[in-house]
Amino acid sequence: MFPESIQKLINHLSKLPDIGPRAATRLAFHLINQDQTELNDLSSLIANIRKEINLCRDCFNLTSKDNDQCPVCQDKKRDQKTICLVETVLNIPPLEKTKRYNGLYHVLGGLISPADGIGPENLRIKELTKRIKENQPQEIIFALSPTTEGDTTALYIEHLLKDIKIKTSRLARGLSSGSDLEYADEHTLSNALMGRK
Ligand SMILES: [Zn+2]
Repeated sequence: MFPESIQKLINHLSKLPDIGPRAATRLAFHLINQDQTELNDLSSLIANIRKEINLCRDCFNLTSKDNDQCPVCQDKKRDQKTICLVETVLNIPPLEKTKRYNGLYHVLGGLISPADGIGPENLRIKELTKRIKENQPQEIIFALSPTTEGDTTALYIEHLLKDIKIKTSRLARGLSSGSDLEYADEHTLSNALMGRK
């Protein structure tokens, strides 16, 4: 129906999250109408994005390529004794936006899910226990999605930490069960954080 180059672009765009074939077609035609400089900038940003970023050596949040620590870990005014566990880096900005959290993070890089072949060894749990031994935080907050996978992961880690004197808490269930933390709004997250137990 379209020239091959456009069809190829549509096919690539439809692989992006939340983009179906119709949205991909709209995006492709939007791009056709942009000026060449804009297209060059966009394509070079995409081509180089992996080279421009680094993972924080402590929490695995994203950081720029010249920094081995993310802005959160670099900020010594933050509470160094509280670590909030999240599934992905995408969970950090909404928690930061609540302005109710001033501790550190630890990005697990997924949740335990036997059905998808993801076990504890695939997550950054070893790195977490090492960090806990070295820095002896007082509290670990599980800010994981209220799903079976989130619960399984929290139980697994709580079990690992049972011999260490540390307070663990979970976000309050203002979040509807089974929902993804990524889609929780600021207000809900803020309440969930304050009501943690
Ligand atoms: Zn960090």
